[in-house]
Amino acid sequence: MIPSSPLMATYPTPLVTFVQGEGSRLIDADGSRYLDFLSGLAVTSLGHARPEVVTAIASQAETLSHVSNLFGNELAGPVAALLDGLLADATGTHGKVFFCNSGAEANECAIKLARRVSPGRHVVVSTLDSFHGRTLATLAATGQPAKHAPFQPMPAGFVHVPFGDIGAVETALEGGEVAAVLVECIQAEGGINVPERGYLSALESAARRVGALFMVDEIQTGLGRTGSWFAFQDEALTPDVVTLAKALGNGMPVGACWARDDVAAAFTPGDHGSTFGGQPLAMAAARATLETMIDLDAPALASRASAQLTAGLRDLEGVVDVRGRGLLLGAVLSQPVAVAATAAALQAGLVVNAVRPDVIRLTPPLTVSADEIDEAVMILGSVLHEQMGADG
Ligand code: PLP
Repeated sequence: MIPSSPLMATYPTPLVTFVQGEGSRLIDADGSRYLDFLSGLAVTSLGHARPEVVTAIASQAETLSHVSNLFGNELAGPVAALLDGLLADATGTHGKVFFCNSGAEANECAIKLARRVSPGRHVVVSTLDSFHGRTLATLAATGQPAKHAPFQPMPAGFVHVPFGDIGAVETALEGGEVAAVLVECIQAEGGINVPERGYLSALESAARRVGALFMVDEIQTGLGRTGSWFAFQDEALTPDVVTLAKALGNGMPVGACWARDDVAAAFTPGDHGSTFGGQPLAMAAARATLETMIDLDAPALASRASAQLTAGLRDLEGVVDVRGRGLLLGAVLSQPVAVAATAAALQAGLVVNAVRPDVIRLTPPLTVSADEIDEAVMILGSVLHEQMGADG
């Protein structure tokens, strides 16, 4: 049988095809408008077609889109300095940046760096229910055995411990083979899971005690989304390595791996690379995104909008809890109807997604307005009212 789509079937058949975006809105091929409370999975934090980013991309495309990393370009250094400024403020330490094109590649860089820093140690400890990417190494770091099953054998050197269980980490760190601990401060794809206060600090201390790197995956949580520039600031952590992607280009594919100076120094020419990483077009988007985020005080935007959205969600029929921080929120439902509810929400003009059978994820742009939040809460309220009636 000839497949109906020329695309590999790695994603479910889409229900809608979007052709345009404006701020918090998406428009489909029939001209219907939707409120985008997913932001391309926490990517378009400044909204669609943000003018500063559009202008930067357009003018860079007319000047120089791409040049090999065998040569310099005028943008990668300044963008790395901007990122390092934010991370130095947050950690008290300066570092260096490697640019790539996605979250998985940022974590791949972190994993290679950890092995390079500590010859003889190769194990990366990560947590169950984490998500770190889909390349083989980052899939191996991802703590979801069901996702490993079709691709066995997984690369060696990855150990998973239950999220929140510090005793299990201490056991995993015994034996002297662990190069790094890798963690999301809030597990996003895994269900918007926020650990108990103190767990992440204990994790950092445990890693330091055995001389392993403490690496934080801020690919979904970073750049203002949780109400601070980085989610690790909530417990005043000082990670050695931080990975970023998603919001960094506001839709242009850009990933970054930042490491403290002395850690970054382990890489020498030839150790790692990427044809597109740090190219001018991507860097123009990243620079405009970061500068605009800094101008707008992106974390403060997320905090303000979070209070309104959280309160609105808590009042809805069928919502028993709201997890997360800032604008990385999970509405926990009293019944496992999240998949049906998100499909109904889409039909009603609201884009969200289900991260668990009973959890709906909401990651609107940080620039979302109060009226847009009211509208989204109203749509979700009527969808949940129907779902709860249908299933209860
Ligand atoms: N790490 C986290 C925390 C993520 O949420 C994701 C993507 O959802 C990734 C890594 C992988 O990023 P990418 O899909 O850009 O490779």
